[in-house]
Amino acid sequence: MANIWYIQVNRHCNNACHFCSNPSNWNNISYERWLELIDDFIEKKYLGIIFTWWEPTLSSDLAEWIEYANKKGIENRMISNGMMCSSKDYISKLSKSWLKLIHFSVYSCYEKIHDFLTDTPWSWKKLMMSITNALNAWIRVQINTVINHYSENHLDETVRFITRTFPPIKHFVWNNLDPLMMRKTKTAISTLPNFRIFKDPLARAMKFLEASWRTFRVERVPLCYIEWFEWASTETRKIVKDEERIVHFLDERETVRQYWKYWEHDKNKDCKQCSLNSICAWIYKKDDYFSNVNVYPQKLSQERKNIIIKKILK
Ligand code: SF4
Repeated sequence: MANIWYIQVNRHCNNACHFCSNPSNWNNISYERWLELIDDFIEKKYLGIIFTWWEPTLSSDLAEWIEYANKKGIENRMISNGMMCSSKDYISKLSKSWLKLIHFSVYSCYEKIHDFLTDTPWSWKKLMMSITNALNAWIRVQINTVINHYSENHLDETVRFITRTFPPIKHFVWNNLDPLMMRKTKTAISTLPNFRIFKDPLARAMKFLEASWRTFRVERVPLCYIEWFEWASTETRKIVKDEERIVHFLDERETVRQYWKYWEHDKNKDCKQCSLNSICAWIYKKDDYFSNVNVYPQKLSQERKNIIIKKILK
């Protein structure tokens, strides 16, 4: 999927994650508005749709939208917290609409930590049941993990747990926490990750996945924190490939086109001396939340830089 369209189908949820990046406003997209948007999307020649935040499974029209998108020949998938899909009847409904891919959000291999982060008892157990149900229904599953303080030191353990428990899962995405719109409670602020701590577990997780022929992407992590895996940075890939995405927000922002400028975050003055400067997105919200994060300017030969670019473009 190259240029993609994220569509918020509702803004409410059955979890209450402390670091949620899109606060609830109880808006829903109407079935008719969705049809208008998809026509616009086809005209713009976008290749795929991701049904997302808060929780698309709480929209009663979801299966119909998926079916419609499939009829129009548009690749589609959803990101879900894995609460609703714990019901076999519900997953069977999605499977009948020909949903082919779900990204489930798994924050930790430890039940207690996941349930604490979602602020919802039993959410981990339901999530595990949802993954089982989806795989049994022949729906492909990928895993999204938010990098946060409470699971930053065992990112590799989580990946090993998932691959051991669910061998068909082949793709993982780490999203570094997005603090922009999260609640500003003491607990929410305590979830901010420490870059120095997550660097090694993340490196171990990526090495493990690469060695087991699985794939992965990393978002909002500067390239000096993912040495040797720079090609996996979502933003760097978009900068190199000059890709864009449209996000349809259910708030005053409405439809936002995000192109290369969007992929660059807050620059540190030391970045000027770095050989990866032109393809690195730097640190997201550095000035407001991560001012104590150090950067490490890289001295890469042009040849090594070309290898990164080639790997992204292949
Ligand atoms: S030093 Fe700056 S430009 Fe270089 S990899 Fe780190 S954040 Fe990116």
